[in-house]
Amino acid sequence: MNRVLVSEPAVVEPQQQRVNLLGLPADKLADFFASIGEKRFRVNQVLKWIHQRGVTDFALMTDLSKALRDKLATVAEVRAPELVEEHHSADGTRKWLVRTDGGECVEAVFIPEKDRGTLCVSSQIGCSLDCSFCATGKQGFNRNLSAAEIIGQVWTAVNSFGGFEPGVERVVSNVVMMGMGEPLMNFDNVVDAMALMMEDCAYGLSKRRVTLSTAGVVPALERLGDVTDVSLAISLHAPNNALRNELVPINRKYPLESLIAASRRYLDKLPDTHRKVTVEYTLIDQVNDRPEHARELAALLKALPCKINLIPFNPFPNSGYKRVSNNALNRFRDILFQAGHTVTVRTTRGDDIAAACGQLAGSFNDKTRRKARHQQRYGREVEQPVRLVGLQG
Ligand code: SF4
Repeated sequence: MNRVLVSEPAVVEPQQQRVNLLGLPADKLADFFASIGEKRFRVNQVLKWIHQRGVTDFALMTDLSKALRDKLATVAEVRAPELVEEHHSADGTRKWLVRTDGGECVEAVFIPEKDRGTLCVSSQIGCSLDCSFCATGKQGFNRNLSAAEIIGQVWTAVNSFGGFEPGVERVVSNVVMMGMGEPLMNFDNVVDAMALMMEDCAYGLSKRRVTLSTAGVVPALERLGDVTDVSLAISLHAPNNALRNELVPINRKYPLESLIAASRRYLDKLPDTHRKVTVEYTLIDQVNDRPEHARELAALLKALPCKINLIPFNPFPNSGYKRVSNNALNRFRDILFQAGHTVTVRTTRGDDIAAACGQLAGSFNDKTRRKARHQQRYGREVEQPVRLVGLQG
């Protein structure tokens, strides 16, 4: 592991009187310029300065008039979250810890693969849900991130790879909203940030390369297809309601059938017909890894155009769960294959920098007291997991 940068915790003084343009997608940036008496064509100029050239100082935005630059400096700002730590894994994985307004910290992770570079972005400080197998969930919840704090993670990652320099190829080719938090519990800010990811004058990613992963906030999922056409992943983790009620408590409110029907309706709203939902299934030893679970899952997903991503559980202290055995994993995968499903198995990456699935923890004050209750129950703190991988939402 290579820790590249550490900055000491500092009291952050948010400059709330100025509008942070970093998190404004094109339509909201247009509203902002209208509010200060400027023309709409400024929108594309400023988006390019911020998101394609990495410029945060209005004085350097040289195709704006001097008068406009001076005006912007008094009413607006471009402020990314403060970079606290950056870790480089031996396998190319990178992780950033950034400090948000108010001093709380969240993490983003970059995972390089042969044909893509995927950035996993957080949407909340902690998580408002409490999935039983998730280290992030055990840390409790503080608040939703602003759109600037979400897109600021993308800005930080691109900057880290030198991607704002002329002629440097962008290595962040895909973004998944699968870091800390449930994105659909922070609907408006996540939608704004994803719009910037796909905006031609910002990061220009295609809708297939931006993925929102949800544990199943069904009413918000019903609305999602009206405002965006990003790729969808659902965190299933169980093939029936009895088991899923235990693993993913939001299932008690929005059971499996309603989540799958809402996912189907999301696909139906997309203009292109060949899109599939990614189904995330974390395999836990002796909990949800049996052949009958695989058969039940295969049947449950029969009518949903989907690909299934199997994720071996990453143990963390006092989780009460164990990693699936290789035998059980292979058997589970084969049953799904034989039933005609497309199945992938997520490989472990970034395990030397704690960047794995469900293991992003950040550093924050838990307003739910969930972390304290967990400590009380087990007598010690939820620690960072020993093995990490990818991400889960
Ligand atoms: S798995 Fe996702 S939704 Fe569930 S607690 Fe963890 S971060 Fe939240």
